[in-house]
Order: sequence, then C-alpha cells, then structure tokens
Amino acid sequence: MDTDVLIIGSGMGGATCAAALAPSGARITILERGERIKDTADTRDAFSIFNFGTFRNDETWDDSKGNTFNPGNYYFVGGNSKLYGAVMFRYRSKDFCALQHMGGTSPGWPISYEDFEPWYQKAEDMYEVRGSLDEDPTEPPHSGSYAFPPVPHEPAIADAARRLAGQGLTPAHLPLGVDIDAWLAGGATPWDAFPNTGDGKKDAESVGLKIALRHNSVRLETGCKVTRLLTRADGQIEGAEFIKDSGPCRIAAKTVVLSAGAVNSAALLLRSANDSFPTGLANRSDQVGRNFMNHNTHAVMSLHPFRKNPSVYQKTLCFNDFYLSGGPGGEPLGNIQLLGKITAPILASQVRLPGPAARWLAGRSIDWYLMSEDLPDPESRVTVRGDRIVLDWKRSNWEAHLHLLRRFKSILRKAGWPLVLSRAFDRTVPSHQCGTARFGTDPDKSVLDIWCRTHDHPNLFVVDASFLPNSAAVNPALTIAAQALRVADHIKQTDLAA
Ligand SMILES: Cc1cc2nc3c(=O)[nH]c(=O)nc-3n(C[C@H](O)[C@H](O)[C@H](O)COP(=O)(O)OP(=O)(O)OC[C@H]3O[C@@H](n4cnc5c(N)ncnc54)[C@H](O)[C@@H]3O)c2cc1C
Repeated sequence: MDTDVLIIGSGMGGATCAAALAPSGARITILERGERIKDTADTRDAFSIFNFGTFRNDETWDDSKGNTFNPGNYYFVGGNSKLYGAVMFRYRSKDFCALQHMGGTSPGWPISYEDFEPWYQKAEDMYEVRGSLDEDPTEPPHSGSYAFPPVPHEPAIADAARRLAGQGLTPAHLPLGVDIDAWLAGGATPWDAFPNTGDGKKDAESVGLKIALRHNSVRLETGCKVTRLLTRADGQIEGAEFIKDSGPCRIAAKTVVLSAGAVNSAALLLRSANDSFPTGLANRSDQVGRNFMNHNTHAVMSLHPFRKNPSVYQKTLCFNDFYLSGGPGGEPLGNIQLLGKITAPILASQVRLPGPAARWLAGRSIDWYLMSEDLPDPESRVTVRGDRIVLDWKRSNWEAHLHLLRRFKSILRKAGWPLVLSRAFDRTVPSHQCGTARFGTDPDKSVLDIWCRTHDHPNLFVVDASFLPNSAAVNPALTIAAQALRVADHIKQTDLAA
C-alpha cells in the first residue's frame, strides 16, 4: 500500500488538513485507530455516558509516580471533537505575544495574530461557527463576520446574563459550532461531552472528513493504530507501521502528517526511535513530549433555592472580563463560560449524592466552567516506557486560577446566587492537551518550523494540538483547525507542487 499523503489521526487537526488537501487530487490516506460512533440510544443517555463511560477508551497511562489511570480522551473517527463542547474561540490577539502571568511568562507565537487571522476566518466559515462580534471587548479583529447568528440563550441564561451585567461584567454569546435545531432534533440534551452522530455538532467528522471524503482520491481506513514511523537513510520518513485486525501492516508515503493528538503524536515520535534517531524522531532538540499543557479548570454550580433552571443545553454564555487582567498585579486570570447543563445523572456520576439531592441541586444550578492558562514547562512532559505512555503533567499558574475562582464566587453571590459550589476538574482528563511538539523558528528550542514541518525530517508535519507554544485560556479546537488549513495550504504549494 502506498500514498502521496499519509494522515495519522482523523481529529480536528487531521480531518481539517485532509479537507484542505483533498482538492489537490493527491492520493490521501487517513489512518484512524478508532471507528465511527454508531447512532444508538446511548449517545443521548447521560447515565450511559457519564456513569458507565460507554464512549471512553480502555487504555491506561501512567503518571510520574507510577499510578495508572484511564485518560479521558476519545478514540473515534473525528477524535475528541466528537464529544467536544463545540466552543470555537479564537485566541485573543495578546495570546500571540509574550504575556506576564502570576505563575510566569507565556511565550507568545513565532507568527503574529495578523498573519494567522485569515486562517481563523476560513476555519470559522468551514465549521459554520455561530457567534457575535460586538459583545466581547477582548474579541480580536475579524476580517469577516460569523455566517450565522449566535445560538440563543435559554430564558434562565438570558436572566443570568442580565444579573452578571448588573455586576459590571460584559457577558457575551459563546462562539459555537452547533446547529441547535439539528442537535435538538436528535433529543433534548446538552451537546457538551455528548457524542455527535448527525450534523448538529460541527466536528471533525461531520465537517472536515465529510468535505475530504467527497473526493475519490481520499481514503479513510478505520481501526488502524499506527505503531511506528519509518525513516530512510537520508532522514526522510518512508512510511508507517500499523496494526489492523490484530495484524501488522505497512504503508509508504511521500508526505506524512501526524495528527494523533498532543499526547499520542509525541508518544509515536518517541516510540519510532531507531539507530539513526536514537532519542526518537524529530527530537534533535530534545523537545518532543516536553512543554505538555492542559488548562487549569474548575466546574462551579451557582444556585438559588427558589429559582429553577429548566435549561436543556445551557452552554451559550461566556465572559472575558478577567482574561487579560484581574490578578493582584493586573495579571491575566482566564475565561469563564457555561458548561453544558449538569443534570442529576451527570452530577451523581461525579459526586456521591442520593438521587433526590442530585435532582434538587441540578434542577436549580447554573453550571460554569472556569479556565486559566497553564504555562509551558520543559519538565511537564510525555515520555514512553516500553509500550506505555507516561504523562507527567506539572500544572502551573494555579494561583491565578484560584484568584479567578474566588473573584467569580464573590460576584455570583452578589448577583443573586447564595449557594456556590465548586470542584476542580480531574487531572486524568487531559481534554485540552497541547504543546508537546511546539512550533518555532529555533531548531534547538522547537520541534516544528513555522509551517509545522519537523525541523529534522523534511517530509514530516505535525498538525494537531502539539504545535501550540502556549495554551492561552480559551478552548483550542478552532486554533488547531485554523493551523491545519494554513499548513495544508503550505503543503500544497511546496510538497505537492513538486
Ligand atoms: C469532552 C470534551 C469537550 C471539549 N470541548 C471543547 C470545546 O468546546 N472547544 C474546543 O475548542 N475544544 C474542546 N475540547 C478539546 C478538543 O476536542 C481538542 O482540543 C481537539 O479535538 C484536539 O484535536 P487534535 O487534532 O489535536 O486531536 P484529537 O481530536 O484527539 O484527534 C486525534 C485522533 O488521532 C487518533 N489517533 C491517536 N493515536 C493514533 C494512532 N496511533 N494511530 C491512528 N490514529 C490515532 C485518535 O483516535 C483521534 O481520532 C474538548 C475535549 C473533550 C474531551
């Protein structure tokens, strides 16, 4: 089997890249370890999803202390975006520059917001993002407008927006890749952390792959777990080994795009070590797997005992008043947005509570998601031990996150929610993982050049969350998609033009 372009992984990076490369006519093969999610009753059953973990993978990783855990990542066609909250934020323009935080300095990008902006616009158009440009003062300049109006607030959320505005905040509609009518036609549930099987959620399968697979030159092979990349004597990548139906297979490729997600892409590069590259591929800088970041996150429930929240989906509101300032010395604190509605089965899966107590709380709560930047640290890293993945996440900037939490709780109480509960998200859920193969101009300090081509192997690109030099404090998917479009355009002009 051989191909012009081999893409490993069909998540946000891989599928979007495939969509943009497909019109070139090049033979493109996408190898994906997972299968398509089937449209069963489980996909809208909160108990099945959150209690039984029906869609979770069965893999285990180790932490630095040797404890084993099951990571909250999803291996399906479409990757993690199948269960994502579809929040499609742009990084704020200041995220592209070095920025001082309470816990250290965020390094900024090797390219400017202005350079990157056209790709954000294309990604928003492709993923049919719904939003509003005139509400959030931190919204960076857009060269176009959103093609659709924002997903409407439900009445309890419109009331929450008014209460927060009364406290001097500037609530805005979340930018969302959700067709709300199509989503609700499949069942009256939230979409955040629920798998998508139709067109309601604009994810890597329902958008990116759908576009790519309209072209006969694109082939998707599911159930194919890539185990190793192979090199030629000149350092070029020859192809990959993978396992399908328990049997080993090989594929040769002229250009390889690694899009297995920040942890798996790093692990694959490290596992592919050979005599010529004894510390792993693309790793002359010793940076592969380093600078692993996730976000610092909390769930917060705000309640008034006599006010019910009958919202179904809830996840439409955010504010960025503390995104660029708010710390004791004016440092950035982070973003606040709504979670999908926490219902009684979801709450009971997280906290031991009798059914009636869970129903009482969830029937009244408005549920928030607080997110602060995690800063890059070379000792925060992915390594491999034999065939096992070791994730040693060294969380940073936590004090800033706790500041955000304290400030928000105080605002919520003043805005009319006397009861405020909070809980940090589990460290075993690296849902916003990024940064393990960062891009940059210096081959000694970065794994990828500014086009996400590895410094060490001219025909190997990494196109997923790995490239991010900082995590910012907004959800990463739109930035991954925009970079995939930018890199695909470069591949077309260079490798495929030759
Ligand atoms: C519950 C949840 C909610 C989220 N909500 C949001 C949100 O609202 N907004 C947002 O911006 N982000 C959100 N995220 C994060 C977002 O989904 C990810 O940042 C994004 O999908 C990452 O894209 P990626 O291309 O880096 O990797 P992935 O989407 O993880 O794709 C990697 C793909 O590679 C495949 N793969 C892995 N290893 C191999 C291998 N060895 N061989 C072959 N295939 C392989 C995987 O199966 C997967 O399909 C959420 C994530 C989760 C889990």
